[in-house]
Amino acid sequence: MTSRNGRSHELVIRHARVLDPSTGLDAVKDVRISGGRVAEVGDDLHGTRELGADGLYLFPGFVDVHAHWRTPGREDEETIESGSASAAVGGFTGVVMMPNTDPVVDKPVVVSGLLRRIEQESRVRAYVSAALHVGLKGERLTEMRLLKEAGALCVSDDGLGTQSAGVLRNAMLYASSAGLPVLLHCEDHTLATGVVHDGTAAALAGIPGSPASAEDVATATALVLATETGAKSHITHISTGLSAALVRFFADHADVTSDTTPHHLTLTDDLISSLEGTYRVNPPLRPEDHRDAVTDALRDGTLDFVATDHAPHASEEKDLPLEQAAPGFLGHETAFAALHTELVLTGKLPLARLVEAMSCAPGRWVGEGGSLAVGSPADLTLVDPSEEWTVDRGSLSSRSWNSPYLGRRLTGRVVGTIVGGELVLDRTGAKFGVRA
Ligand SMILES: [Zn+2]
Repeated sequence: MTSRNGRSHELVIRHARVLDPSTGLDAVKDVRISGGRVAEVGDDLHGTRELGADGLYLFPGFVDVHAHWRTPGREDEETIESGSASAAVGGFTGVVMMPNTDPVVDKPVVVSGLLRRIEQESRVRAYVSAALHVGLKGERLTEMRLLKEAGALCVSDDGLGTQSAGVLRNAMLYASSAGLPVLLHCEDHTLATGVVHDGTAAALAGIPGSPASAEDVATATALVLATETGAKSHITHISTGLSAALVRFFADHADVTSDTTPHHLTLTDDLISSLEGTYRVNPPLRPEDHRDAVTDALRDGTLDFVATDHAPHASEEKDLPLEQAAPGFLGHETAFAALHTELVLTGKLPLARLVEAMSCAPGRWVGEGGSLAVGSPADLTLVDPSEEWTVDRGSLSSRSWNSPYLGRRLTGRVVGTIVGGELVLDRTGAKFGVRA
């Protein structure tokens, strides 16, 4: 990361409403940052630089364990620079990059090359997921011990999933012995033959659908194998009621965590009636009953956290009829605002649970951040809970524009992102200035 060297200047954020579920703190406080860490949380603190944050929330920085920064290979869609800028705009201080790039991140030299570029280009902390199988083909295992030595955080066949239970079982055993968690994209390709969720909306639109079982069968397989092998596993982008219920059932048996996405929590498959490629995503948008079941599961802690599956695509891959479009949505920049607008302000999810799900729990998973306890890395997110804004192309920092929220009015906006004590996003100029 540019110029983050642990010798950051002291900074005091004053009068913010500090909400940190990891410590139970919810009060107007001052926070003093020194040497890149949280040095003190208290009242009437002062320092060489002060930011007045009256009316703003201060949270532990958001952490996103699922993002596609399209590097290497598709830098026209996203780069580490633009992906991390997009993350910072969304309040994310840490991001895990998925391995389905070109080349695939299946060799130690690709991992170390990415980590070097992250060091130079990323505005936020970024971690690398390596592939579980060479070329994501579900055949030959990657050299996971060497990938870990090179700096990989976890392994995944994201984008495709692992199709054979026997192959997945071996992969889990090997990942476990290499000390790497497995991040699982659960999708059975013998069932996932359509492009949207197989339901009423698909029938009305005349578009082939995939049944929810395409996800559920693979989720059940992954949970059974995680239980048997003891492998530390994380199931990503859960989008159905049954998959959430399966996670609940297996919670006491397996070393498993899980996430769902902002879009599966806030959008439904009625959007496909527009026939626009914009709304194609994998797993697909589901009907209301699934969305509500997934929301309940996030609220009660069955699903541990939110991850965006930030998936930029060039317009020539998205400005197409649904059946021809590439699946995926941008996620970083709208995640908090969409969830705040649709779930917190409507009373479906307490704000503290949202912060736990966007900061604390994923921070624990990556092993860094997610807490404002004294001594923690000074990774923080400042939010104006009342700012209303409209998502439009001009407002996006990503290199791509494929947000399903384009044109939507949202309430609540990230106005400051601090990584290791440094402001990497500052939209607060109008609200407060840095006093040198
Ligand atoms: Zn995936």
